[in-house]
Amino acid sequence: RHHEPLFAQTRGDIAVSFEFFPPKTDKMADTLWESIQTLAPLQPRFVSVTYGAGGSTRERTHATVERILKETPLTPAAHLTCVGASRAEVDAVAQEYWDLGVRHIVALRGDAPEAGIKYQPHPQGYRDATELVAGLKQVAPFDISVAAYPEMHPDSSSRAFDLENLKRKVDAGADRAITQFFFSADCFFRFRDEAAAAGLDVEIVPGILPVSNVATTRRFAQACGAAIPEWLDAMFEGLDDLPSARQLIAATVAAELCGQLYAGGVRHFHFYTLNRAELSYAICHLLGVRARA
Ligand code: FAD
Repeated sequence: RHHEPLFAQTRGDIAVSFEFFPPKTDKMADTLWESIQTLAPLQPRFVSVTYGAGGSTRERTHATVERILKETPLTPAAHLTCVGASRAEVDAVAQEYWDLGVRHIVALRGDAPEAGIKYQPHPQGYRDATELVAGLKQVAPFDISVAAYPEMHPDSSSRAFDLENLKRKVDAGADRAITQFFFSADCFFRFRDEAAAAGLDVEIVPGILPVSNVATTRRFAQACGAAIPEWLDAMFEGLDDLPSARQLIAATVAAELCGQLYAGGVRHFHFYTLNRAELSYAICHLLGVRARA
């Protein structure tokens, strides 16, 4: 019997997007910039820039988005949260983005500044992402992405409540949902099916986190309601001193997940790059995404 390898095709039907965080130092900025230049020929649909907890990166997010807009042909998407700011302040940030030429916002509630503390909205602020989406649409006709949680947001009382919350964000004007990272294609498909059954008519883009360090990922995962399966732990056993092997395994594991998602109909993948190009680039390549002039 002839088996064609999963990754034997170059495919023209896959779109990708990449997420970056604003750099803290000049050295980190150099790394980010090299990464953006490496990934740009893959012609992502957009590249997004995160907003630090508590709005701590407001200026740096803005500066990074502005540089992408001015120095590359890429479409930037600016993350924006409700944390620690009044509605008027958030609206002003959004208006600045619009005036600059930014047309895509990733609209988020954000988290309490300290882990483990319940989220408290700013007294004059947007209460949650739903209110933020509605507010942004008042400022300008932004293209808006919102967050979705295949394994449920930790603040949600049930999966049904979480889906209702996503539906409210879509009803408020969100154009697509990008998911928190996850490691099981079945988990994504279950969520997609439940969303469809709940009447959600919006594109759900899987967020892919290539994992080369389980310990770091566990810290992220605990805060955001994503499970680290036992097999992933086992996969990295004994590799603490072998960073190159970890990279190869990270690419393989993530590409396999993407291959399963592709087989299930997914055609847009959003990569959490952590400002490094190699892993995301390699996974895109395995998926058949090629650089274009
Ligand atoms: P919402 O959708 O507003 O709510 C999250 C959950 O809280 C809901 O599922 C619901 O269960 C509950 N909830 C909401 N409103 C209510 C209500 N009125 N009453 C009761 N319960 C309610 N964080 C950052 O700080 N900066 C970033 O740049 C950033 N980027 C992200 C990108 C993606 C793709 C994802 C998936 C997450 C990102 N986050 C970011 C994390 C995000 O801010 C947190 O997960 C936050 O806890 C929830 O934000 P949200 O927009 O999903 O909130």
